[in-house]
Amino acid sequence: MKTILTGIRVNSEPTLGNYLGALLPMVRLANEHKNDYHINIFVPDLHSIISDVDGDLQKNLVRSLKIYLAAGLEPNENVHFYRQSRVPAHSELMWILNTVATMGELSRMTQYKEKSEGKTSVNAGIFTYPVLMAADILLYDAEYVPVGEDQFQHLELTRNLAMRVNNRFNTELFVPPVKTEEQVKFMTVGNALRIRDLQNPEKKMSKSTKSENSKIMMSDAPEVAAKKIMSATTDSLAKIQYDMFNQPGISNLLQIEALVNDLSLQDVISTWAGETRYGDLKQKVASSVKTMLEDFQNKIAQIPDATIYEYLEMGEVYANGVANKKLAIVKQAFGLC
Ligand code: ATP
Ligand code: MG
Repeated sequence: MKTILTGIRVNSEPTLGNYLGALLPMVRLANEHKNDYHINIFVPDLHSIISDVDGDLQKNLVRSLKIYLAAGLEPNENVHFYRQSRVPAHSELMWILNTVATMGELSRMTQYKEKSEGKTSVNAGIFTYPVLMAADILLYDAEYVPVGEDQFQHLELTRNLAMRVNNRFNTELFVPPVKTEEQVKFMTVGNALRIRDLQNPEKKMSKSTKSENSKIMMSDAPEVAAKKIMSATTDSLAKIQYDMFNQPGISNLLQIEALVNDLSLQDVISTWAGETRYGDLKQKVASSVKTMLEDFQNKIAQIPDATIYEYLEMGEVYANGVANKKLAIVKQAFGLC
């Protein structure tokens, strides 16, 4: 059985954009494929400590997994939750792959360039974390790794490292993940979707945006989120239609309305066609978002921490089993045993 692998970032709370654009599509993908694939959902806590963590890492990771369940993930025996730091093979394989990756290729990583730019001191983890990511993937022969565009380059690096090792030993030691174009096809939903900043709808909503009114956090009080929608920037055309170029604010509201209610965008556009009162649309979207958040937050409150730890412990038994087996073969090839 093949493996789909995804890491969940636990450094901070997701925005409505992260939720609708990344989390929900991943949950759908997992539910859709969990009978014919292993679904590895891991917490890359070793990656987390490369940069600042908002709050407490342990609390965040429990909450992040609850978010997956509240978003509708229905785990079966093929869905595995685990913490990267509880599977030591990740760190060990990373070291081995460090001897395969070159300084040149790591220096070319855009993420590294962006994250180190202008800084006088940069921790070495920022430079080498793509190698850890390669280990995360290759230990499980994971062919599908749904990631955002910003990670495509790292996925290509993973493929290159896998093929380099395979060539060196003339065996199929590693299964390289499929090419990014094929990953995108497999993932279909969510790729092009960008929820916009509520105040500056020309930009996408981002959690790092300073202005609180620009973004809705999944932990926002539902009332507060509704107010943010009510104060969203629109335009003066007095026409409710989907036109991201000329009316990004209104288009964004239509988009949110569709996604939050699980309706097709086309249906929502038709419902509002010919309408002119932006206040009415805002009120409807505000109420939809409020209801969604109430429901989501209630679900989270009902999941005990113990449930998450049970999933993690089960998943870690599975992950250690698979990862150690792969690591043993790799160590043998490298003459380490
Ligand atoms: P930051 O401001 O720190 O970059 P972010 O909100 O852009 O935060 P990321 O951590 O960069 O979030 O991305 C997490 C995931 O959410 C990625 O898969 C990304 O494609 C997706 N995503 C981010 N912003 C949006 C958005 N506005 N709409 C839809 N998906 C989004
Ligand atoms: Mg981002």
